[in-house]
Amino acid sequence: MSNDDQKMTTMTGFGLGEVPTLFEESVSGRQGVSLPPETPDTENLVTSLIPPSHIRRVPLSLPELSEFQVVRHFTRLSQRTLSVDNTFYPLGSCTMKYNPKLNEAIAASDNFAGSHPSQPEESLQGLLAIYYQLSQWLGALTGLPGVSLQPAAGAHGEFTALLVAKAYFRDRGEVQRLQVLVPDTAHGTNPASATRCGMEPIALTSKNGKLDPTELKHHLSERTACLMITNPNTLGLFEEEILEISALVHEVGALVYLDGANFNALVGRVRPADFGADLMHINLHKTFSVPHGSGGPGSGPICVRETLAPYLPVPIVEMRDGQFRLRSDRPKSIGKVRTFFGNIPAVVRAWAYIAQLGLEGLREVSGHAVLNANYLLKLLAQYYDVPYGPRCMHEFVIDGTRQKKSGVKALDIAKKLLDFGFHPPTTYFPLIVPEALMIEPTETENKETLEAFARAMIEIAKLAVDNPSAVTSAPEHTPVSRLDELSAARNPIVTWPEL
Ligand SMILES: *Cc1c(COP(=O)(O)O)cnc(C)c1O
Repeated sequence: MSNDDQKMTTMTGFGLGEVPTLFEESVSGRQGVSLPPETPDTENLVTSLIPPSHIRRVPLSLPELSEFQVVRHFTRLSQRTLSVDNTFYPLGSCTMKYNPKLNEAIAASDNFAGSHPSQPEESLQGLLAIYYQLSQWLGALTGLPGVSLQPAAGAHGEFTALLVAKAYFRDRGEVQRLQVLVPDTAHGTNPASATRCGMEPIALTSKNGKLDPTELKHHLSERTACLMITNPNTLGLFEEEILEISALVHEVGALVYLDGANFNALVGRVRPADFGADLMHINLHKTFSVPHGSGGPGSGPICVRETLAPYLPVPIVEMRDGQFRLRSDRPKSIGKVRTFFGNIPAVVRAWAYIAQLGLEGLREVSGHAVLNANYLLKLLAQYYDVPYGPRCMHEFVIDGTRQKKSGVKALDIAKKLLDFGFHPPTTYFPLIVPEALMIEPTETENKETLEAFARAMIEIAKLAVDNPSAVTSAPEHTPVSRLDELSAARNPIVTWPEL
């Protein structure tokens, strides 16, 4: 191998060396695509289409690279990231399960990916049929037949559903109902959504990890709009008093909002309407297998009782005279909450997933979600404190307080897992567990993976006693060591390199 060849090998670096930025790799004049040379015609076309004040006079300083450099750059970066496709990803509450590639192929097919939102309805019948059918299925699975597939995420679903509740109360002349009761185990988006729609979130203190009906009674009044409850809650516990809780809320004329992010623990077995839910959101990207992470792209449909359906956002897909139609002339509707039809690929993937599994398959999903979480909990229970056990639904929370005595925090345990090649669980949530590690194995993992993860967690528990610094200095085997996440968020260094 010549010296030059050796240099090339190091530069292309398959190992864990640094990946240069696209700007560093840029070579002036290098191109990814060869365009035909500019002619007076093309120039005329440009000037006829774009007003002169908008035509760039100085070339944009973008990196100049060939196509394969760009492919290698992003492929290398992608290989440094932990994902559901390359490792176990037990991020509690987020349901990071494996997404069958068949769904991807269906969503990427030209029939869906190639459609345009301004196409006439007659030419979108296939897509609208999917919207219609998925709405019907979600209505049947939840017992809440009014469905909107518009919201773009769980939090957006919460926001939309609360607007629906607000419009419902306004219509009834009960404008004073603006209080939203939120248990202290709730996801942070719950109080945030209530605040964003001009309502007032009120925190309820939980008892033994669950909502206490006495505490609830204390806060219910003619000013209550909704109770926002997560069931199973974020500690992975089923709210066993839910029937009494719902009855109390309904008694004062308020609504029960279910945060349905944990629906993969119930799907096919429990219809939330049967335990009193009046409206809820579903995270298609959690329960119904849509890839997500880094903030999107998700989809958070809402399902509501018949009486609340008139207030749903527009458009709604209807079937009339054997044709599927988008309907926007709904006088009581809260209006539009998302451009066009919502997140089409997410809707198509969720539809494909349910179509393949059927009701029996969905029952297995929730069964395995709960079984996997309980198996893992059992493997870990001896080594970590389990404040709310001994059994769980689809996820559970362990407390690293025992490990903290030797200086090892929940954060250190999470970072050490990276050295074992696992994505860490959710940390420090819910807030009522001081050193919380919230673990959701999901239903798609097999026994060997759960056991391998348990071995890593047990090894870390032992290190926390025998050699704490081996945990507090983690990660050691990742492309970058421990980052100062706070400074990165508070003082981001955003530069635009000069070329
Ligand atoms: C994920 C989650 C949400 C928010 O959903 P996004 O799609 O992330 O906006 C709300 N509540 C709970 C319990 C969740 O797990």
